[in-house]
Amino acid sequence: MTSPYYQRVCAWLRMNRTVTAVLALVLILTTACSSMAGYRVRAVTIGPNNWLLLRDVAGYYGLAYTVNRQEIRMRSATHRLQFSMDRREVRVDGHSVWLGTAPASYRGAVIIRDQDFRCILEPILRPASVPRQNVRTVLLDPGHGGNDQGASSRRIIEKNLTLRIARRTAEVLRRQGYRVILSRETDRFIALDQRDAIADRQNADIFVSIHANSAADHGVGGIETFALPPRGGSSTYEKRASTTSKRGNQYDPQNTRLAYDLHRGMLAATGTEDRGIKRANFAVLREAPCPAVLVEIGFISNSLDEARLQSPGYQEHLAQGIAAGVTAYARNVRSGGTRQ
Ligand SMILES: [Zn+2]
Repeated sequence: MTSPYYQRVCAWLRMNRTVTAVLALVLILTTACSSMAGYRVRAVTIGPNNWLLLRDVAGYYGLAYTVNRQEIRMRSATHRLQFSMDRREVRVDGHSVWLGTAPASYRGAVIIRDQDFRCILEPILRPASVPRQNVRTVLLDPGHGGNDQGASSRRIIEKNLTLRIARRTAEVLRRQGYRVILSRETDRFIALDQRDAIADRQNADIFVSIHANSAADHGVGGIETFALPPRGGSSTYEKRASTTSKRGNQYDPQNTRLAYDLHRGMLAATGTEDRGIKRANFAVLREAPCPAVLVEIGFISNSLDEARLQSPGYQEHLAQGIAAGVTAYARNVRSGGTRQ
């Protein structure tokens, strides 16, 4: 039962919430970026969530915006983005990046969740917005160990492969002046919470967990990079968002930037298939005391990936790619301004 008066009040409340959201957004964006101060990104509140007009987000970045049926393109001389309606995967400068929520339509306009804008697009498109950090100590975490073998194929055991790649990456980074700690130097078991405890004790500036994938479908191959879902966001393989904030959520923008730089580094060094930057509530990411990412360097269940991962030359490319990702991240977040 709804009276006309009740409907009017509800409409007013809805409108008022929208106005408040717009004002809040303008304030946030103004403080975040003085060169684009005051750019008006319109917001709508639907249920408990804030959404932004994608057209305005494009304007905020100075990107041209075009819609063609289900596809939305945003481009400038330096960036190219491609969104699809009702799909969480976005192409950003040629890379696959997964949002927490797919773009939706609202009164004929395309909208995206504001947290996908703040915690995923913004750190990628505007690294200067990511909190500053001097990266000196890198914790490399070779997945599994001891009686936990991880995935295995006829020719590869994950725990051995991850240790080999971590050791080689450490050598490359040490030569560049980084202090590098390995969560394990040998084939031994370490509990997941111990891996974060080591990062804590060693005052690690970043945490990179190295794993290899395996899938029942042997046709699946390529590199995936995982970061913790931003606060209130959902994992790539789940619809429902987690409502509790984790320790790792303190670093939401840094996590995205680190994932993006590592993913790009590995793909550029290996030329392997891009399986995307995804989100998962992995224990080591949840409790990380610093920006943290988990990289899946390939599928040992795929014969092409398996052959590559066995080759010392390819392992070298991977180590170089991870190291290049670390140095790119360090450059992007160091204090005293960014040089792009
Ligand atoms: Zn693993």
